[in-house]
Amino acid sequence: MRVRIDNGTCLLKPSIDMERAALALWAERLRPDEKITYKGRGPDDGEYWTVRLEAADVGLTLVGNFEEDKRAIESLRNAFFFGCNPIFVEAVGDGVRIAATRCKLCGSYVIDMPSAEWKTCQPCSERCQHELERGITHSETKELDVGNFCVKCGRAPAPTGATT
Ligand SMILES: [Zn+2]
Ligand SMILES: [Zn+2]
Repeated sequence: MRVRIDNGTCLLKPSIDMERAALALWAERLRPDEKITYKGRGPDDGEYWTVRLEAADVGLTLVGNFEEDKRAIESLRNAFFFGCNPIFVEAVGDGVRIAATRCKLCGSYVIDMPSAEWKTCQPCSERCQHELERGITHSETKELDVGNFCVKCGRAPAPTGATT
């Protein structure tokens, strides 16, 4: 499977017949914005490089061929685990484009973890009038921390006016 994060969505391109058949069924049965269920990571996968999905009675396991695919799958897993089940966007050739969700403010597709978890895309978070609160934060590296984050867009901007 080729897995490429691209402009708020993720493009899945089959590399073997089984993947091609599953994606063709999704393309046929799913409508835009229809939910795909995140079924967890692979059983023996300590590195989050396998992600299992299911939609329209068709299961699909994302296994990366190359380092780039593995990194993309890891970031998808974080978005789906901390954020939400993915949605179908469109068929592209023999591949399929999916997203984590849509931005609650502008409706654009998002795929990265903070955007998915808070349903707020990066451009909208940059326009946000942040309301900061202190609480538990977590990052792409999965480390928990205590810090300030915005209760509206979830981002944790660097404190202004502070010098180090
Ligand atoms: Zn937005
Ligand atoms: Zn904010």
